[in-house]
Amino acid sequence: MAKTDIGPPHYSQFLPPIIKDNYGKWKYHEIVKPGVLKHVGQSGDELYSVRVGSCRLASIDFLEEVCQVADKYAGGYLRFTSRNNIEFLLSDKNNVDPLIEECKAKGWPVGGTGNALNNIIHTQGWVHCHSAATDASGIVKAVMDELYDYFTSMKLPAKLKISLACCLNMCGAVHCSDIAILGIHRKVPKINDAEIAKQCEIPNVVASCPTGAIRPNPKAKSVVINEEKCMYCGNCFTMCPAMPIADPENDGIALLVGGKVANARTTPMFSRLAVPYLPNNPPRWPEVTAMVRKLVELWANNAKKGERYGEWIERIGWEKFFKMAELPFTDKHIDDFIFSVPTFRTTTQFKY
Ligand code: SF4
Ligand code: SF4
Repeated sequence: MAKTDIGPPHYSQFLPPIIKDNYGKWKYHEIVKPGVLKHVGQSGDELYSVRVGSCRLASIDFLEEVCQVADKYAGGYLRFTSRNNIEFLLSDKNNVDPLIEECKAKGWPVGGTGNALNNIIHTQGWVHCHSAATDASGIVKAVMDELYDYFTSMKLPAKLKISLACCLNMCGAVHCSDIAILGIHRKVPKINDAEIAKQCEIPNVVASCPTGAIRPNPKAKSVVINEEKCMYCGNCFTMCPAMPIADPENDGIALLVGGKVANARTTPMFSRLAVPYLPNNPPRWPEVTAMVRKLVELWANNAKKGERYGEWIERIGWEKFFKMAELPFTDKHIDDFIFSVPTFRTTTQFKY
């Protein structure tokens, strides 16, 4: 294949020497204390990773400061995890505690390992995406402030992964997190007939709807939406700016629980709806932060050691979970999406 200058350089160029030397030859790893992982190679080499919670949208100044700390303690080596944690990679054990002290002095939280809350992964929110039903960074900051102690300690029954997606297209992969914070629209897009013909290609708009809710409206050179079929996904707005879906009065947040990716103990699980709607209430989203804390503590106080959120609910039963969480079970909790036949919960075990 011809060589081009397109694409990132090969990652192996950036590995710390200790990782290059022990590549594929690691013997074991352990968590020394909250935020500190130790990997030991067959050669006896030891690599210490110090994990620091970081924001997802970081300023240049912050990144420069992070790099200066990496230069001082980690030979300039660090990485970002998929949950936006910073991990400083140290081959000198003596630098671990001074690095942690400096991070703490700067107000950077060290933790997120083992039976702890990991960093909250999130999407773009109002800062960037056109179809966001809620903010991303703002809520995540407010929730993380509320749950800070669970990041810096390892006192939870198991790992806790919280994620946020600002619409149901879910580029934050919230469908497989212990607790999902999901932005939802609740009204169909508003059709601007006068602009549709000028700005949009009607066949593409019709084709963009996953539920077939959009039909051409030749008289108006526009389209119509069958409201019964609309699931408020906003795909049509992506195709056609003359169909805005954002609605300050009706947009808000749903909370889902019980998802996980891991194959440990049980198969991976999808998260399921627990709270159908909470209002958008910036800048600190008190309703959302209070409910997330309540859900976290309910699980923390009742699950067995090692039991992820969904595993706990599956053991006690969803009916009992709703009772313990003091959440009403409503028609909104029943998955009646037109293509959802395999997920219907309609057996005789259904007690509501
Ligand atoms: Fe945009 Fe939806 Fe992704 Fe949020 S989740 S960034 S609104 S596509
Ligand atoms: Fe179809 Fe989604 Fe647009 Fe509703 S919001 S009309 S479901 S594309």
